[in-house]
Amino acid sequence: MWNNWAGDQACTPAHFAQPASVDEVRDTVRESARQGRGVRVVGAGHSFGDNVLTSGTLLSLDRLSGVLGVDREAGTVRVAAGTRLHELNRLLDGHGLALANLGDIDSQSVAGAISTATHGTGRNLGNLATFVQDVELVTAQGDVLQASAAGRDVLEAARVSVGALGVITAYTLKVVPSFTLHGVQEPAALDETLERLDDHVDGNDHFEFFSFPHSGTVLAKRTNRVDGPVPGRGTSTTGRLRSYLEGELLENTALDLVCRLGRARPGLIPRLNRLATDLITPTSRTGTSHEVLVSKRSVRFTETEWALPREACAEALTEMRRLVTSRRLDVNFPFEVRFVAGDGESLLSPAYGRESCYIAAHMYRGMPWQEFFTAVQDVALSYGGRPHWGKRHSLSADRLSGLYPRWDDFQRVRRELDPDGLFANDHVRRIFGA
Ligand SMILES: Cc1cc2nc3c(=O)[nH]c(=O)nc-3n(C[C@H](O)[C@H](O)[C@H](O)COP(=O)(O)OP(=O)(O)OC[C@H]3O[C@@H](n4cnc5c(N)ncnc54)[C@H](O)[C@@H]3O)c2cc1C
Repeated sequence: MWNNWAGDQACTPAHFAQPASVDEVRDTVRESARQGRGVRVVGAGHSFGDNVLTSGTLLSLDRLSGVLGVDREAGTVRVAAGTRLHELNRLLDGHGLALANLGDIDSQSVAGAISTATHGTGRNLGNLATFVQDVELVTAQGDVLQASAAGRDVLEAARVSVGALGVITAYTLKVVPSFTLHGVQEPAALDETLERLDDHVDGNDHFEFFSFPHSGTVLAKRTNRVDGPVPGRGTSTTGRLRSYLEGELLENTALDLVCRLGRARPGLIPRLNRLATDLITPTSRTGTSHEVLVSKRSVRFTETEWALPREACAEALTEMRRLVTSRRLDVNFPFEVRFVAGDGESLLSPAYGRESCYIAAHMYRGMPWQEFFTAVQDVALSYGGRPHWGKRHSLSADRLSGLYPRWDDFQRVRRELDPDGLFANDHVRRIFGA
């Protein structure tokens, strides 16, 4: 039995394979096709939706890991698709290189993160799929395809493809020289944060905030590049330990306690929301980019997340917060609000063609999320929102097709690469059609 990270998606595949080479991937794909078994790939299982579930063959690329080549002149690396992001960060460090941006955590596999357009925050920074220069994938026929050689539309489709085009075995990724970041997190008034949103977003390399539905205070995070270490900040061992403990206490231990209490006594949730924001104290941290961008997330939850046109951010968030109170929904987790550059190179990037604000809504494990997530989805859709491909949403192809200007181009590539739907499961059939 396979389970996702949140523990609320499970399946029992007929066959589980961990190939150690591209040839073994081809053999597994061909054999599954011969036996009429569908194929899905799992990365680190951190998606919240039913993306991975299969009763056919489940493939893990954990044994296809590592940096396969570095081209300093081009500023690219070739990386095996199963590499976990934390491992990639460590290996890049060794070459004096880094990814230009990261999401909240680094547990995902490179292919899993890129295939759902995983993103961090930063108005000039695209999601991880924007770093992709080339994709190597094994098709339904068992052929190894270099997407760039197969045509521009194949590459544009393969970047964000939710496992529907084939088994991705390697990427060529754009990288940057290692850099140091200084991150500050502190309490801020929600009203002021929304009124001066453009100043915050445009004035920082990375800006994001967390907003509890029943509190007028947000946790704001501002992170910026610095030249070398900032004197007296968290670069010493004790400084690092202190900021780790502060982050651990606030973002994990205290949050878990507040959520447990709220789950047991939902009537306390509004007060617990305010208590959680009262606990926020200003902290700062300086370090290598991935040390500062990545956090530890030990509290288990499920999530929906929507990419909206950036200018809709304040209005949409206000509406989402309001529906929690007007419908008396029990929500003891904060909304997370982030900003991502528009991109035009991945046909199914939720930020396709527009600068985007991402609003994420969470629900603590063991609490009902359906009504809340549906209400958030309705608000997001009313602003032209597009769902994160790795998170919960209930849209199917008929609705999604209207959200992506080049939907038909993606479908054409899918028909060419996987005419019989070898890589389709219920999730893929719902979002892309049979
Ligand atoms: C605690 C937590 C924090 C998170 N933080 C963020 C964040 O900050 N920003 C953000 O955008 N998202 C975030 N996410 C979501 C997460 O990044 C995505 O769901 C991502 O897809 C998970 O990567 P994974 O390796 O676990 O992939 P999986 O969930 O295992 O797979 C994701 C999809 O990719 C496909 N896939 C995986 N490997 C391959 C391959 N080799 N070839 C073809 N298809 C493949 C799978 O079939 C599936 O459809 C978070 C999730 C969690 C649980």
